[in-house]
This record gives sequence, structure tokens and C-alpha cells, in this order.
Amino acid sequence: MVTKMNLTGNYINGEWQEAKTGDTMESVNPATSETIGESQKSGVEDIKLAIENAKTAFEKSDWRSNSTRRSDALMQWAYKLEENKEDIAKILTLENGKPLKESRIELNACIDTLKYFGGMARSVFGRSINLSATSYGIIDKEPIGVVGIISPWNWPAMLMIREAAPALAAGNAVVLKPASRTPIVSTAIVKLIEDNEYFPPGIVNIVTGPGRLIGDEMTTNPDVHAISFTGDTSTGKNLMKKAAEKVKKLALELGGKSPNILFPDANLEKAIPAVAKSAFITSGQMCFAGSRVLIHESIHEQVVEELRKEAEKLKVGNGMDESTDMGPVISEDQLNTILEYCEIGRQDAKLVTGGNRLTGEMYDNGFFIEPTIFDQVPIESKIAQEEIFGPVLVVQVFKDEEEAVELANGTIFGLAAGVWTKDVNRAMRVAKRVQAGTVWINTYNKNYPQTEFGGYKESGIGRTRGIEGLLEYTETKHINIEIEE
Ligand code: NAD
Repeated sequence: MVTKMNLTGNYINGEWQEAKTGDTMESVNPATSETIGESQKSGVEDIKLAIENAKTAFEKSDWRSNSTRRSDALMQWAYKLEENKEDIAKILTLENGKPLKESRIELNACIDTLKYFGGMARSVFGRSINLSATSYGIIDKEPIGVVGIISPWNWPAMLMIREAAPALAAGNAVVLKPASRTPIVSTAIVKLIEDNEYFPPGIVNIVTGPGRLIGDEMTTNPDVHAISFTGDTSTGKNLMKKAAEKVKKLALELGGKSPNILFPDANLEKAIPAVAKSAFITSGQMCFAGSRVLIHESIHEQVVEELRKEAEKLKVGNGMDESTDMGPVISEDQLNTILEYCEIGRQDAKLVTGGNRLTGEMYDNGFFIEPTIFDQVPIESKIAQEEIFGPVLVVQVFKDEEEAVELANGTIFGLAAGVWTKDVNRAMRVAKRVQAGTVWINTYNKNYPQTEFGGYKESGIGRTRGIEGLLEYTETKHINIEIEE
């Protein structure tokens, strides 16, 4: 039982519990530095308990065999989130800092995802094949068992639901581990299933606490059969090494340094606001942020000037104010890291706008930074190579299609790209040559539950969303039948 106001518990086996460590942790509003509430600072014993209960629920309930039940459970969760959207949007903004309008977009995406996979739960099927007159093969799709879902703070609601929904639709039990900076909103979303009679107790569990401790246990515990990790590429690499000890099934959704590529015939009226939005949404703390823009030399000056105007007209402020376009970044540490990158930018490139911490009454207690643009950034510069995870747009110039593709592919990442041109042949040529899991043509930032998403190169392994996203959470079994004539 958890009774203290503003203190969230762990949800294990259908009950709210305090951590066995007796410790709690505070969530801080990045716009004001005020504490908005507390959550459990759990330890290894807590996560072990959640895993044990998830295993029992998976083995003993009819969850894995009752697809109608799974469909109803996810649909109900979606309806409940719809009813409570406004309250949860406020928690999301208070804990993460993003503007309320972005919080609503994030929650709409969660609702859509729950409904899509609610429907898909009834369609997890394999194939069959006649192998000879007497031999018949059934290629069956089965749930994996207990899935550990580790998510980051930047889109804490969506990135938890994006993985939980397909894992549950496929018949697994889940143990959720939200980021330590955003446990309250993640827990509030799980709270919506308290009265959902379709979920057997233990099928959905959430445990909050430090990533290293809990995440390590999830990664090495033999009763967790698969891990879905969304987060930083370096954390993902460490996790992969640990998971190797148990040959654990892994899906990794990692970082990016995604380019928008603007050819001379691009519709600039549409492209420029879209490029600016892609770079500054969630203060640039977005895995597929369009953090680089590659501009053809013939339109370079004009486009940079227009982008500067877009950046400077953004209203930066507290996300609870409906008129705010860009909120703070998540923490003082993150702010300082971004400012260090800005220093590198000042040396390696040309500062067009921004680059400073915002100060003054409205900003002093929060972690606010100006929307920033650097021009003429050499491909080898750290600010062109590394994921800054802040509102910093890097401009690079190209002279022809060949050079555009080379620059686009010139980092370790391969998450997304945007191609802007009216020439359909060029658009398709470039889309096919860019090494990225998603390529948008004459648009950016469009994601749907039914279309796959994931990374090439060091941006990840596996796909989320869509049919492939569902199948990530299944095992394939061949059942061979010999028929007697
Ligand atoms: P992070 O790697 O620091 O943390 C992610 C999660 O991992 C958190 O829940 C954290 O507590 C946990 N964790 C930390 N150490 C761990 C360990 N040793 N073992 C297991 N889990 C551990 O990332 P972050 O700062 O929260 O998020 C930002 C990163 O996430 C960026 O790199 C961003 O690009 C990436 N991201 C990727 C996608 C995608 O879909 N590809 C989406 C959003 C964010």
C-alpha cells in the first residue's frame, strides 16, 4: 500500500507497493526546479519480485492464449487514457518540461497505438506449408514470456506504450522500467489499468528506480526472455554486452543525427517551418530530431536566413503556458552538455543564432536555452557527428546529389532523414541511398502505429511499430506433422 500524497508506488501483481529499499526519489519540474512528487527508488529485490510475478502471470493465466481478452484489455486502456488525457498531459509537462500542446500530441499517439495493437492482438498468426504428400509444416507465432521494457525520459509516455502495446498484444507479460527523470507520468499511465478486469494481475508491472541497478538485473535475470531498450547508444551498447551472457533477445532503439536534405527545387514555404520544427520539437530532445539540414549551395544563404527567422520567433518558456512553443531541457546537466557543444560549434563553425542559456525572471530557476543554429559545419566536427539532444541545428552545404548522400550517411547513426524536392526520380534515388530506417519525402516527423520504425547502423537493432514491431515480441516455432496415408 502506498498512502502518502504525491508518492507513486511500484505496480506489481496488480498491487501498489513501496520499494523494499525504503527509498524514494523526487521528480523536478525542469521549468521551475520545483519538486512535483516522489516515486519509489527501487532496488534489485523489487525488480526481482516484479519479474517473478510476471512469470507466474504469464504461465498461469489465459493471457497468452486468449486474444480477445488481450484486445479488450488494450482497447479499454486506450479509452481510459482518452478520458484522462488532459490530467496526464499536465503531469507530462510538469515532469518533462515539454509544452502542453506537445504533451497532448504524445498522448494521442499513445491512444492510437493502444487501439492499433488492441486490434492486432487478434491477428497474431503464422503460416503453414505442405512439405510433401504426408508432411505438413505449421510456422507458429508464440509470445516470448516476460519482456523487460526500459524507456527514456524524452517521450516517456509514448516510448513506453510503443513497446508495451505490441508486447502485450502478442501475449507477453511486461515489466516496465521508466527513466528516473519521468517515473510519475509513466506510473500515472499504468494507474489507468487498475480497474481493467481484462488484465490478469501480474501481466503489467512497473518498477521505478535507477537504471543501472534495475536495468542490469532485468538484462541478466534468466526469467526475462527479451529486453526492449530505448535510449542512448552508449547505454544500449553496454546493455547488449550484458545481455550476451544469457543470449537474451534484444530490441534496441537508440540515438540519431538525422538530416533534412533540401534540393534547389524544394517547396521552401513548406520545408523551412518543417525543418525548424523537426530540430526544435521537445527542445531538440528527440531521437529522430532533424538535427542536421543539408542545403544545396544555390539556396543556402536564403534558407539559413529563413531558418534564423523561424528559430527567433519561437516562444521559449514554461510548458504549462499554452502559448509556449519550446520548453526547457530536462536538467541542469543536460543544459551544460548542450552549452559545451555550443562552444565547440563556435570554434568549428559559424553561429547563426542562439547558443546561450536564457536568463531573466521567467528562466532563472529552469533549464532554458535559445534555439540555436550553426552554419558551415564540417562533417568531422563533433557537433555534426554526435547526438547533442538539445535545440541545436547544424547546417551543411552540398553541391550535388552525390555529396548530399555522402553527407547524409556520414555519421554512425541511421535513424531518419527528410528529402525535399519536386523531382520524384531524385526523391526516390536519394531515399533508396540514404542509410536510415525512415525516410520522409517532402514532409518530416510523421509516425503511425502501422508503419515500422527503427535504426540502421548504430541507431538500433530491430523494428518497432507495425507488423514487424509486433513480431519482435514473438518466437517462431515450426510444428511438423506427419500424416498417415
Ligand atoms: P539513457 O540511455 O540514459 O536511459 C534510457 C533508459 O535506460 C532509462 O530508463 C535509464 O534509467 C535506463 N538505464 C540507464 N543505465 C542502464 C543500464 N546500465 N542498464 C539498463 N538500463 C539502463 O537515455 P536517455 O537519456 O533517457 O534518453 C535519451 C536517448 O534516447 C537519446 O540518445 C535518444 O536518441 C534515445 N532515444 C531513442 C529513440 C528511438 O526510438 N530510437 C526514442 C527516444 C529516445
